[in-house]
Amino acid sequence: MNIHEYQAKAILKKYGVRVQEGVVADTPEQATAAAKQLNAETGTTWYVIKAQIHAGGRGKGKINETGSNGVVLAKSLEDVAPKAAAILGGVLVTHQTGAEGKKVNKVLVAQDVYYPGASAPKEYYVSILLDRASGHNVIMASTEGGMDIEEVAEHTPEKIFKEWIDPLVGLQAFQTRKIAFALGLSGNAFKEMVKFLHALYNAYVDTDSSMFEINPVLKTSDDKILAVDAKVNLDDNALYRHPDLAELRDITEEDPLEVEAGENHLNYVKLDGNVGCMVNGAGLAMATMDVIKLAGGEPANFLDVGGGANAKTVEAGFRIILKDPNVKAILINVFGGIVRCDRVANGVVEAYKNIGDIKVPIIVRLQGTNAEEGARIIDESGLKVFSAVLLKDAAQKVKEVLA
Ligand code: GDP
Ligand code: MN
Repeated sequence: MNIHEYQAKAILKKYGVRVQEGVVADTPEQATAAAKQLNAETGTTWYVIKAQIHAGGRGKGKINETGSNGVVLAKSLEDVAPKAAAILGGVLVTHQTGAEGKKVNKVLVAQDVYYPGASAPKEYYVSILLDRASGHNVIMASTEGGMDIEEVAEHTPEKIFKEWIDPLVGLQAFQTRKIAFALGLSGNAFKEMVKFLHALYNAYVDTDSSMFEINPVLKTSDDKILAVDAKVNLDDNALYRHPDLAELRDITEEDPLEVEAGENHLNYVKLDGNVGCMVNGAGLAMATMDVIKLAGGEPANFLDVGGGANAKTVEAGFRIILKDPNVKAILINVFGGIVRCDRVANGVVEAYKNIGDIKVPIIVRLQGTNAEEGARIIDESGLKVFSAVLLKDAAQKVKEVLA
């Protein structure tokens, strides 16, 4: 589960990670009040206004309606409200949101931490994630902060430093010193970075996160190390241990069809193609997507209805797939192992009748226990549903209905 920057920073702060201070606001008036509060607390007279969406690239991204960037600097208190107004309620498009963008409901008004001083501030990159290949958490750090890390990885991979952490011994002091050294730090900034990394790692482990990305981490002109940005991904499977974190969920940021699928305990991922599919079992779902491609279609989704497919889950799956306007056909591919094919077939017919008015052709391929009876139920239903027993036949039918 992703959370907003302002929520992530609040968590980091609790663990002793120094962050760019900020106050969240829903309206331009609140933004001004937030700036006043920051001025009182930190003395800052310049403010950064940051759109809160679950996507990165906000600094370079643009608000459709006003042309404002998603992260802007306000150099006076009076400047805060109009700049916040140009972001709030607008649709922000960044390289991570896709062309449709994301609506901005909140802004974070933050203290400007790039103030000029004895030396120029410097941006670094730090992330922590689970390296599944080694079964270790890995800290990645780079001097190329503020940049897209994918680009750094492609063009100058030697500039990304990695340190793997043994889960049994945890993060050791020599490792954080190694990272701070690799980043070329010295003096107070070196000590600050070591402290920063330990606090950050504690937060990561304690919250059962699967990814932290702090880009940029800033070395201020007075040698403090702080998190300017914070992308936190919490492990969904561990959320039951953190009811306080589970509450941070913002479903307005999630794909509505995926939210609906979750409520029905369906494992659904929306894709861009034209053939919807409903399958029991993730492996079979992957194979089905291959078959759709082979037949000249493109899968519109991944949908695993799980082991206990019944009329209710089939109907919920249908409704979700049909809400996607790109869907030109639906392929249902069910292997009757625990679930019997005749039950699934009855479920399909019942769901079809309940929803009514389905315009796209549906191909049902049932294999396994009672497959023939399932096919007979489909064929005799009188509905615009085609049955197939072999995967090859199902692919052929997909080809025919798309033609
Ligand atoms: P992202 O674009 O979504 O990754 O959002 P960030 O939080 O990383 O902010 C984008 C950029 O805004 C940063 O890389 C900085 O260059 C700039 N920025 C953030 N905070 C400040 C600040 O306090 N002062 C100034 N001048 N720029 C800032
Ligand atoms: Mn960033």
